[in-house]
Amino acid sequence: MKRNLLSFPGGIHPAGKHKELSSSTPIQTAPLMEKYHVVLAQNVGKPPKMIVEPGTEVKKYQLIAEADGFVSANLHAPTSGKVTGIVNVPGAMGSLVPAIEIIADGKDEACEAMPSIDWQNAGRDELIRRIGDCGIVGMGGAAFPSRVKLSPPPEVKIDTVILNGAECEPYLTADHRLMLERPEDVVIGAAILGKAMNVENVVIGIENNKTDAYEALLPVAEKYGVKLALLKVQYPQGSEKQLIYAITRRKVATGALPMSAGCVVQNVGSAAAVKTAVVDGRPLIERITTVTGEVVKNPGNWLLRIGTPVIEVLKLAGGVTAEPGKLILGGPMMGFAEKSFDVPVSKNTSGILLLSEDAAYKFNSTNCLRCGRCVAACPMLLAPCVIGTAVEGGRTDLAAENHVMDCLECGACAFACPAHRPLVQYFRRAKAEIRRQKK
Ligand code: SF4
Ligand code: SF4
Repeated sequence: MKRNLLSFPGGIHPAGKHKELSSSTPIQTAPLMEKYHVVLAQNVGKPPKMIVEPGTEVKKYQLIAEADGFVSANLHAPTSGKVTGIVNVPGAMGSLVPAIEIIADGKDEACEAMPSIDWQNAGRDELIRRIGDCGIVGMGGAAFPSRVKLSPPPEVKIDTVILNGAECEPYLTADHRLMLERPEDVVIGAAILGKAMNVENVVIGIENNKTDAYEALLPVAEKYGVKLALLKVQYPQGSEKQLIYAITRRKVATGALPMSAGCVVQNVGSAAAVKTAVVDGRPLIERITTVTGEVVKNPGNWLLRIGTPVIEVLKLAGGVTAEPGKLILGGPMMGFAEKSFDVPVSKNTSGILLLSEDAAYKFNSTNCLRCGRCVAACPMLLAPCVIGTAVEGGRTDLAAENHVMDCLECGACAFACPAHRPLVQYFRRAKAEIRRQKK
């Protein structure tokens, strides 16, 4: 059947998206681990405050850290066991971050579930409160607390809820398998989000390389009045501003939030977690993660509890077939390189990617060739070459004039650049400097 595919200007199509390594592997549930390290700072905003003392016996799903302020998110115990206290574990970019250590007692004993909410007849406040209580964040990578996104100021009119099922990053297939294997959870979660925002127009955007997921979602979506939109395979189709444009043709103005275009965007994994929270009364303690890369023996998709050490996950995947060149949490375009396999799984760990030494090979960069390929690739219609040259010359002011703060850090320009210029690193540096100057 010929379908009308939606998209946005710019972007790239990374050759060989490598999704075939894991896309046909059904989700497997990881066995219980001996210990879990639940990182405190795993949401955008303020980390939650630990509310359990060292030595406390906790049950699975028990609240162990409470949101500290509006932009923060609760954390819950992934299993029953003893809290030993705070330990420092590897975090993003080689830093050490505090985590609550739980030694599992092997019983996996759960505390009482919260009452199920009759969401079709529930009020908006009750739904949003439950989503906040259950610690749900953007699970596509952003980790922004969902409760905050669902609470725009009263003067902002929201008329559309969009679910991001694009999964446009190479290698990642966790959202694909979720939509294919648990379509009811995704669609009911979408419908609950629509109810929480008082909007009728709820749309799930799916890239056209996942038509089996589209077919699985369709009958359930029709039942709950949720629409499906097929999107062109184009990176970064799952970025909020690009997704909003592809589906509604609305543009989010420079410096503005997606809500200014009347839209709230959530990831499909977050929507499934919303269904679990509202209908089953259970908080977010696990997620589906793609474990992949050319040197992983058995690439696949795993249901992992938050706090599981990556080294244990790699053992489940059969280990490696060759010396890995690079470990990335997330996808290769927007994920974060990690130095240690002891890093634990967080709410936003969409992928555990081991690149081969060849794939991780670092090219030497040269001067800009003025070829313009980065400009054609940029989904934000920026001039990455101009901004990059400005940053290289120490001219953060020029980078700001050329709208570096609008950069999504999607990496499409760097991918397209034949001179292998470290454009995203330049932009991150400039953005940090501009934020520092504003303080
Ligand atoms: S990283 Fe920034 S400048 Fe480069 S393509 Fe993405 S949005 Fe454009
Ligand atoms: S793609 Fe690279 S070499 Fe070409 S204009 Fe952009 S920065 Fe310069």
